Amino acid sequence: MVKKHLTKKQLDDLRAQLIKEEKKMESTIVRLKENDPFNDPDHATDNAAVDTDVREQLGHDTVEAQMKEVQKELILVRGALEKMHKGTYGFCDRCKEPIVLARLKYVPQTKYCINCEKILRK
Ligand SMILES: [Zn+2]
Repeated sequence: MVKKHLTKKQLDDLRAQLIKEEKKMESTIVRLKENDPFNDPDHATDNAAVDTDVREQLGHDTVEAQMKEVQKELILVRGALEKMHKGTYGFCDRCKEPIVLARLKYVPQTKYCINCEKILRK
């Protein structure tokens, strides 16, 4: 039997929040892809000046970096939804203690309680 510390209502609210986050991140990824200058249909064919190439490279690198960040978060969000499904949501991955609700509301995709997060960040 899985221990529970959240009510169904609290879980439902957090799930809704996670799904909203997931959708937001998915559309951010789509938007980032569109903003990638390497996706510009003119890109492959243009033999533009060097400074244009540099600008495109910079734009591409920025998009890549942002994309990585969003994808990392998206993995966390999906992991949290997966844990909800399994009934293990809301417990710290490290110490296995319940994560306080206030923290879950603030960062529903978190894997760790505040104490472990502090230790892991050091
Ligand atoms: Zn912990």
